[in-house]
Amino acid sequence: MALKTGKEYLESIAALDLEAHILGRQTADLPEHGLVEPSRRAVAFTYDGAHNPETRELFCVESPLTKEAVNRFTHLHQSREDLINKVKMQRYCGHQTACCFQRCVGLDAANAIFSTTFECDQKHGTVYHQRFRDYWKWIQQQDLLVDGAMTDPKGDRGRRPRDQRDPDLFLRVKEQRPEGVVINGAKLHQTGMLNSHEVLIMPTLTLRNGEEPWAVCCAVPTTAPGIRHIYGRQASDTRKLEPFGLDVGNPSFGGQEVMTVFEDVFVPQERVFMNGEVDFSGTLVERFASYHRQSYGGCKVGVGDVLIGATALIARLNGAAEASHIKDKIVEMIHLNETIYACGLACSAAGEATPAGNFQVNLLLANVCKLNVTRFPYELARLATDIAGGLLGTMPAAADLEDPVAGPYIRKYLAAAPDGSVLDRMKVLRLIENLVAGAGAVGYLIESMHGAGPPMAQRIMIGRQADLAGKIGRVKDLLGLG
Ligand code: SF4
Ligand code: FE
Repeated sequence: MALKTGKEYLESIAALDLEAHILGRQTADLPEHGLVEPSRRAVAFTYDGAHNPETRELFCVESPLTKEAVNRFTHLHQSREDLINKVKMQRYCGHQTACCFQRCVGLDAANAIFSTTFECDQKHGTVYHQRFRDYWKWIQQQDLLVDGAMTDPKGDRGRRPRDQRDPDLFLRVKEQRPEGVVINGAKLHQTGMLNSHEVLIMPTLTLRNGEEPWAVCCAVPTTAPGIRHIYGRQASDTRKLEPFGLDVGNPSFGGQEVMTVFEDVFVPQERVFMNGEVDFSGTLVERFASYHRQSYGGCKVGVGDVLIGATALIARLNGAAEASHIKDKIVEMIHLNETIYACGLACSAAGEATPAGNFQVNLLLANVCKLNVTRFPYELARLATDIAGGLLGTMPAAADLEDPVAGPYIRKYLAAAPDGSVLDRMKVLRLIENLVAGAGAVGYLIESMHGAGPPMAQRIMIGRQADLAGKIGRVKDLLGLG
């Protein structure tokens, strides 16, 4: 059934009976697990968006595959307007959840695979595109969540995949069979893997002749035999397990990162979308990365909105809101945040149709967008820390606020401006702490640096896409130089 509600999504993911290693224990009760639950709620929010009368129009779009309404988080972009609406939807989700809602990676993978398989088939006479169309139609009809898995462990960074001491350090095809392939390896930094029904596997870098086993793109269920999930720790994550909820910072939502191991996982032919075509590995990596760099022009801006709101509120609760330097710093935060958004919209508005028919973002502007994301959220966090004050790092625990002896002292000495309670002040400070130094900083800061590739990857792409020779040529023409 297309367009699941959040509740239906949660039921469908619970029915998978996924298991993971969490804090030293192999755990099967994921739906109830305190570390997992907030991240599932964040994903469920993206499903409810398609049913909320206020956001239905933004979240629902007709699919060219099913000819029915699907959630935009599974859509193959058909226009520049679709690309723009994707960014708007991501900003909205970030603003509402204040965290990574995990659903964009599969969307970005699908759009990249859709166009790459089309061009690969034209050159090599393969049949990947129709396979992928059939697969993705099923995903849309079932409204499933698909994780996008690109990042290999990579081992010794100075060596190619075949020169590593262990060939599995880059995920590879270990065995070719008539009915499918057997893959081995691992994928790191898997956003929302334990909240996903399926996983789309892609190569992590541009491969060369002789590196065919590593040029593999395929899909498997997250429960496929041979898959093992190991949960990623985040700063202050066990606060989610504490009885007094205040210290967690974000009371409802959170992100999720996982290390996933693939040990002799069999993939049937109908789920294989690249198998040795090294000449298309770079295209796939580049397109996926650019879509995901566009995505940050929405999601990080939405979370930035929350940080700006919390900073303005704590300034008010501290009694400092009218100081001119505070007002100016908040304007600076808004300027930086909207600059990211402007880039997200710009790379969408300058997008182009691919030969397969879906739309691709402008590669240069998507990389400029992400390069800004590797800097601006850090500056926003610095300004928020400046305005919030030192209490951000020294505040007593929620449990002490409840204590009959310590509690009254905390209420007496943390009182500030008359228009807010001590409890309000502590809640806002914990939210800011969550985003700049706690579990939320994984999504807002560390992922802003490394997600969709580190800054150097964007600089390389910007250098390649900027037509520097054309700029030099124009100057020569202008000056009449030879
Ligand atoms: Fe989506 Fe942003 Fe999370 Fe990536 S980091 S999955 S773009 S919310
Ligand atoms: Fe990401």
